[in-house]
Amino acid sequence: MAWDFSTEPEFEEKLAWMREFVREEIFPFETLSLSHDAMVDAVKPLQDEVKRQGLWASHLPPELGGGGFGQLRLGLMHEILGQTVYGPWVFGNNAPDSGNAELLAVGIENSGREGHRKQWLEPLLAGTMRSAFSMTEPGAGADPTMISTTAVRDGDEWVIDGHKWFTSNGSVADFLIVMAVTNPDVHPYAGCSMIVVPADAPGVDIVRDVPTMEDPVEHYGKFGGHAEIIYREVRVPYDNLIGNEGEGFLLAQNRLGPGRIHHCMRWLGQSKRAFDMLCERAVSRTTHKSTLAEKQTVQNWVADSLAEMTAARLMTLYAAWKMDREGASAARVEIAMIKYYGAGVLYNVIDRSIQVHGSLGFSTDLPLESMYRAARAARIYDGPDEVHKVTVARHTLKLYTPVEVPTEHVPTRRLAAKERFAHLLEAATANT
Ligand SMILES: Cc1cc2nc3c(=O)[nH]c(=O)nc-3n(C[C@H](O)[C@H](O)[C@H](O)COP(=O)(O)OP(=O)(O)OC[C@H]3O[C@@H](n4cnc5c(N)ncnc54)[C@H](O)[C@@H]3O)c2cc1C
Repeated sequence: MAWDFSTEPEFEEKLAWMREFVREEIFPFETLSLSHDAMVDAVKPLQDEVKRQGLWASHLPPELGGGGFGQLRLGLMHEILGQTVYGPWVFGNNAPDSGNAELLAVGIENSGREGHRKQWLEPLLAGTMRSAFSMTEPGAGADPTMISTTAVRDGDEWVIDGHKWFTSNGSVADFLIVMAVTNPDVHPYAGCSMIVVPADAPGVDIVRDVPTMEDPVEHYGKFGGHAEIIYREVRVPYDNLIGNEGEGFLLAQNRLGPGRIHHCMRWLGQSKRAFDMLCERAVSRTTHKSTLAEKQTVQNWVADSLAEMTAARLMTLYAAWKMDREGASAARVEIAMIKYYGAGVLYNVIDRSIQVHGSLGFSTDLPLESMYRAARAARIYDGPDEVHKVTVARHTLKLYTPVEVPTEHVPTRRLAAKERFAHLLEAATANT
């Protein structure tokens, strides 16, 4: 089957516009230490321009104000936006709001709870509300079937108790989407649900933003922080349920599939930026009487990085293309592969670029050190690499059956060949 990753000329024009816009209008903000509120004001005119161009919140279908682009075109778009952390924000598709909007949209479709549209979905799309996704617990991460947060129905309300952490943007969100056990008597895949919890509901205790490698200084209430949250007898209306009871894992799968493609393409945007820095430095810096570009180790880094980025890009576009044609579940293995492969490429290219820059690369005079710290997390969030490898290996190994003797065992094959071609062998022997 032929693979076709081409897009229409009109979309190519949009991509060209995005490339220029991101570089000229958004990159400069990276160098200014503006507060979050100042940034909100500063990017507003840029967001208006994106809306005028019809590129706002493109991950959503047209009926929700998005472009209905499909994963392949979205992927190409995210490759450009992902070069800078502000890109997705200016284009109305920053995580976790973009994924949460998709969750709410699917939930409305599944349950018919139209009220969610005006209450949360539309404000999220308009950028007047912020959200967070509260699933991981200190005791349940890579294996979310271990989730212990509960939501118990009491009349027209849910009563939620639990302890979450790494809820990104949790301390600045207006509402939290909480994954909780609603039926402990069945397998967690059928017993968990997602419920919207307003961040100011009594009993929501946002303990702290966990300091991380990405941001080692402890802040509270910072955009991009990862909140630790305790839910103590939090009461919310029953209708805050997203989708239907027991659909938590199903919804999570819907949310994470496309999200991983966008992540990988954003990582490629970051990788390319680091690669450009690597090459620029290689041709500019002379040590020991020759440029770095003339040293074989550096040439190896250039060659390896380009090959890895090209492979990751093709794998990701293929996953997006397959998802557009056959749906998220058919592309499960491809999506798992790009998650760990893409995260590894990102990490390697940034690491080599830092090395080529020496002390300058280690310094904050270049963006590489912060890119490197953020890149490290890519191997952990959205499921650690190892778990995705398990998915790929399990699925692949199912295609094989155990045998007594290896299929390629030469003596066995020789015996079979001798039997099959006995007449030829006899004729050959008779002629000699
Ligand atoms: C920057 C960042 C942002 C995040 N944002 C969010 C968010 O917004 N909302 C949210 O709910 N969560 C979020 N998370 C949490 C993230 O989803 C979890 O960290 C992830 O699922 C792994 O869980 P864990 O950290 O508890 O690791 P653990 O479950 O303790 O796993 C630790 C390690 O064990 C190994 N491992 C685990 N299972 C297997 C296996 N089956 N086979 C082989 N090895 C295995 C892996 O190496 C893994 O890294 C975020 C995390 C980070 C780092």
